[in-house]
Amino acid sequence: MSFMRGWTRVVVLVLVAVIALAAVYEIYQFQLTTQVAPIGKTLFQVSTYATMAAGDYYGKITYGELAKHGDFGIGAFESMNGEMIALDGNFYQITTINGVPQTVETTQTTPFAMVTYFETDQTLYVQEAMNYTELKAFIDSNLPTLDGIYAIKIHGTFETAKTRSVPIQTPPYPALLEVVANQTVFNLTNVEGTIAGYRCPTYMDGINVAGYHCHFITDDKTAGGHMLDLVTQNITIEIDHIQQYQTQNLP
Ligand SMILES: [Zn+2]
Repeated sequence: MSFMRGWTRVVVLVLVAVIALAAVYEIYQFQLTTQVAPIGKTLFQVSTYATMAAGDYYGKITYGELAKHGDFGIGAFESMNGEMIALDGNFYQITTINGVPQTVETTQTTPFAMVTYFETDQTLYVQEAMNYTELKAFIDSNLPTLDGIYAIKIHGTFETAKTRSVPIQTPPYPALLEVVANQTVFNLTNVEGTIAGYRCPTYMDGINVAGYHCHFITDDKTAGGHMLDLVTQNITIEIDHIQQYQTQNLP
């Protein structure tokens, strides 16, 4: 740069410094906007529970779309045709027809569902008989705070598992209470299977369900449904501490 006169050299150096600083700033900004919690810490939800419970059973997104937001979860179907449980990316539909889980087609739609990419933060073991109420109290007593959202996966043997499914509805849709009054109950005994569910805090009542909402499927994929009651035998409880909550298709 010996051909440059003194002042030209200064101008060039200042320009280079400004461009370099601008580049560093851009990279910094980019990192700020992309620093989000890992996807496994997100609860993704379609619509609100209160909306569905009031009788909105119209499918809002396809299961193909839902599956992009999580590999674990629970939900409902267009026209309330059964109960949904998702485990390891496999989505099952348990209808009242025979209660046998069927693989969900990607083109089927859901009026309400919640999924997450399950990651285990906490593991608990139960090797005695607890009913559903006792089990929920046991998990509660082990959670860091009852103000958090938790995805809960329970696998093991159950002395009993009482599940239900709901029959297909036609518009104008009745409210959920009326649908549940006509539910089909399955009384399973000595079964091995997995519970997928969530525990939401009291302040989420309406947007979601305050407390526990769990679905069940047997290991041999012959039965399942929305969990009503149970007696544990030997189970492992895995808990995912959710850190982000995302809703889509709000009314
Ligand atoms: Zn349910």
